[in-house]
Amino acid sequence: MYQSYIGLEVHIHLLTKTKCFCRCRSAFGDKPNTNVCPVCMGYPGALPALNIEAVRMGCMVARSLNCTIPPRTWFERKQYFYPDMPKNYQITQFASPLGKQGFLELTGHGTDCKEIKKNVRIKECHLEEDAGKMIHKGTVSLLDYNRAGVSLLEIVTEPDFESGEEAELFIQELRRIVRYLGVCNGNMEEGSLRADANVSINILGKGLGKKVEIKNLNSSRFVRLGLNYEIRRQSEILDAGKTIVQETRLWDESRGETMPMRQKEDTQDYRYFPEPDLPVFCPDDAFLASVNDAIVELPRARMTRIKNQYGLSEEQAELICGEKESADYFEAAAAIVPEEAVKIANWFLSDIKHILTREGITIKNIGFFSLNPNRLASLVKMISEGRITAKLAKQCMELAIADNKDPEEIVKANNWEQLSDPEKIAAVVKTVLAAEKKAVSELRTIISSDNISTNEKRRKSLTAYLVGKVLAATGGRADPKTAGDQVNKLLSELHYSQGAENE
Ligand code: ADP
Ligand code: ZN
Ligand code: MG
Repeated sequence: MYQSYIGLEVHIHLLTKTKCFCRCRSAFGDKPNTNVCPVCMGYPGALPALNIEAVRMGCMVARSLNCTIPPRTWFERKQYFYPDMPKNYQITQFASPLGKQGFLELTGHGTDCKEIKKNVRIKECHLEEDAGKMIHKGTVSLLDYNRAGVSLLEIVTEPDFESGEEAELFIQELRRIVRYLGVCNGNMEEGSLRADANVSINILGKGLGKKVEIKNLNSSRFVRLGLNYEIRRQSEILDAGKTIVQETRLWDESRGETMPMRQKEDTQDYRYFPEPDLPVFCPDDAFLASVNDAIVELPRARMTRIKNQYGLSEEQAELICGEKESADYFEAAAAIVPEEAVKIANWFLSDIKHILTREGITIKNIGFFSLNPNRLASLVKMISEGRITAKLAKQCMELAIADNKDPEEIVKANNWEQLSDPEKIAAVVKTVLAAEKKAVSELRTIISSDNISTNEKRRKSLTAYLVGKVLAATGGRADPKTAGDQVNKLLSELHYSQGAENE
């Protein structure tokens, strides 16, 4: 029986406008080597200056992961040579990370549907700069330094996960948190959120094993697959009585396997020493208050609250809280008609979501959607008050979106207000029955025949036909149920009056 231990090192690109230690633009996809300066290119004599926004965003994540922010935090130089790093050292944090000893409560279900509930300890969060990008073309390697110096936050967990599923859920949850905070877009394919996974297995009770690090995991799914593959591979080695080699391996997506990359990880000597060009950072009360003010209600807490407050199902609340913007949209509408919150959720998760997809509007951009929360609320309100039929409500919604108008206005302009007064509907039924002589006389024959049951099907379809005519005559405004009742009522009155005549 083996125990597996997994620890994650997650790097997130902070959405600062400028780089971490210089004023170069921090952007993805710009023309190569256009966002560079003497500082991020490591020219002699150029001095770095700390971007306070990067520290603030880093602290927001650290606090959201329940880390303590020490009173003094500083930077170190980590020295190594690689072409993507022009300074030959990376400015990072070593002895005094800006967040220490936190935890994240992991709750939910893995992709294997098993329930997951555990506290994952966060070892630290530290701020550092990214390296440039190497592009390999045949025998030529090109370098783009636009990314060199961009703010990165590294989040390191203790080896508390036991399966690929748990690690996957953590990444998903962390991604949601940083998106809620607005400090990272969480895009794993573009490398805005990158995860390295460390995994070891050992005989149960014997503690940590020899650690293998897996790189190149650019989706949360690969994190799961890579780790589960590695747990299997290591178990087979132990089963065979062999020992595991401490090494770094690469996830190979096409093979669905990890491949050896390099060995003896810990022989490297980075010769860390404090960065002499940057002062120690001591967060004051005003800075810490600005961090707290910028932290929003986090996804898990919001989901639980929304579920209880509005009486939604677990699944609905989960879907609504997938993005902060969709939760904001839902709550803005639900605040207007709290008694119809469930209906708002239903509309939002079916019709509205389909329309957003159709119109090519992402949830992040829902603020640009013409059917704003006020308008959705007024639509749902009109339905629940019986002022418009469900069918016209859909038409009204489409018009409100197309014309960028208020649903109330549209209903008024088109005279769509539902007709539910039985007398008014009866008047329409009378004209319809007078015009539909053929159907009415066939119905009369059926009703007066002794064998009503054999003709029941025909009677129903003729009645439905007449109800349809009544709805059409009112432009779809008549309440279908009242219309049906009135058709039946007038038909039977007709029958009795005819019967009386025949006597
Ligand atoms: P290093 O000094 O090699 O960078 P760290 O102690 O900083 O190692 O840990 C890096 C990551 O590896 C952390 O997420 C940690 O939880 C994890 N880790 C460390 N040792 C092990 C182990 N024996 N098995 C699994 N994960 C480990
Ligand atoms: Zn620069
Ligand atoms: Mg480390």
